[in-house]
Amino acid sequence: MQAVATKKCINPACGLSFDIENDIYKCSCGSLLDIIYSKVPSKNLVEVFYARRNHGGNIFNESGVWRFRDLINYLGIDTENFDECARSLVSLDGAEGRLSKPYKMSKVADYAMMNHDSFLLQPEGYNPSGSFKDNGMSTAVTHAKMLKVRKLICASTGNTSASAAMYAANENIECDVYIPRGEVAAGKLSQAFQFGAQVIQVDGNFDDALAASLAEVNERQGYTVNSVNPFRLEGQKAIVYRVMELLNWNPPDWIVYPGGALGNTSSCGKCLIELHGWGWIKKIPRIAVINAEGANSFYELVNGLFENKKLDWNNGRPDLELVDRYYLHKQSKGVLPKTRATAIQIGKPPNLVKALRAIDITKGVVTQVNDEDMADGMSIVGLNGFDCEMASGAVPAGVRKLRLEGIIKPDDVVVGILTGRQKDPKLPVEYHNNRSNRFARPAREMNNHQF
Ligand SMILES: [Zn+2]
Repeated sequence: MQAVATKKCINPACGLSFDIENDIYKCSCGSLLDIIYSKVPSKNLVEVFYARRNHGGNIFNESGVWRFRDLINYLGIDTENFDECARSLVSLDGAEGRLSKPYKMSKVADYAMMNHDSFLLQPEGYNPSGSFKDNGMSTAVTHAKMLKVRKLICASTGNTSASAAMYAANENIECDVYIPRGEVAAGKLSQAFQFGAQVIQVDGNFDDALAASLAEVNERQGYTVNSVNPFRLEGQKAIVYRVMELLNWNPPDWIVYPGGALGNTSSCGKCLIELHGWGWIKKIPRIAVINAEGANSFYELVNGLFENKKLDWNNGRPDLELVDRYYLHKQSKGVLPKTRATAIQIGKPPNLVKALRAIDITKGVVTQVNDEDMADGMSIVGLNGFDCEMASGAVPAGVRKLRLEGIIKPDDVVVGILTGRQKDPKLPVEYHNNRSNRFARPAREMNNHQF
């Protein structure tokens, strides 16, 4: 019998396949893996997904991830029966993705110089652990459950650890989280402790923490839930499905993400090529990735700012020696990733190669914004009544920049993903109490005699 899904090396010159009943996340050639499905899903499922919104108490229909389970169906589940779903699928009571969909935000549109009706933002911060990670964690932990894994392991700038720890607690399995000491927002660190994870503080940055966590995964019996795990990226495709559903499966012109580990970029690229290949969408939206200026490896490499060579997918043969030289160059200069948007403070994005493929497939662009821009972006989202963290502020700021450069047109339909909610309470207080900031609304003082 043909397997419903396999893991396949992303390097076309290799193309090795593996079954999914193991925790291999890398091919023997060193490349990352995709999940490949043997069947083409019927577009009639669009009606099924819509009908499931009337969930009838079935949390797997309520979930914004598992509602689309037929498109991430590596377990071959073909049932509406709750008990059968519950035996295999992991969900936090249907909460992942449940509240996330694209919204119009007129003040943000004005700031980004976009039309009110064609600019949408999807707050992924309204997931149970407060970030988009829950989309992919539900699918990764489902795979871990299939393998009867006893311990999850991850490195994190904060959101992954919160999400992993939450799902681990709910599934009653252990969770080790490796975090860069002093570089994680207090709210995120507190979540990891709150959910009972074993926190391991690493001297260094996220890149060091990831290396340490993967070394542990390789040596002992632990299961990585970082985005190098292809099952993480399968769940994150649901972010795009929710966008498409709201737009009646008419693709937007652009989908915009902050750029950190580049898992979302990679996941979105795979999602779009699948939907296009299945005949579900007629055109492929362009992806725009917005790096923080202080953590801009992807921006510099893709745009040829190192050695005057533009790094690209090159039909599956990207110039990885250029990447190595770039990292060595940064190291020799003592340049470390540094931004107040700690969620994307990453120097060596682990999904770089998959993200190159996504940029290639979608004719995407990569730009950068500075901390001040991201703080403005975050704040104008807040003034629209939505909550997001500073890394998500890269999205409005990046769209504004691409508008000013004429790359995004005012009539383009643009959907931006706000990846997480505010977990660093100091940031908005500092921002608004500094009158020089663009959208500041400083506190007013009131003395006793004024009562
Ligand atoms: Zn390979």
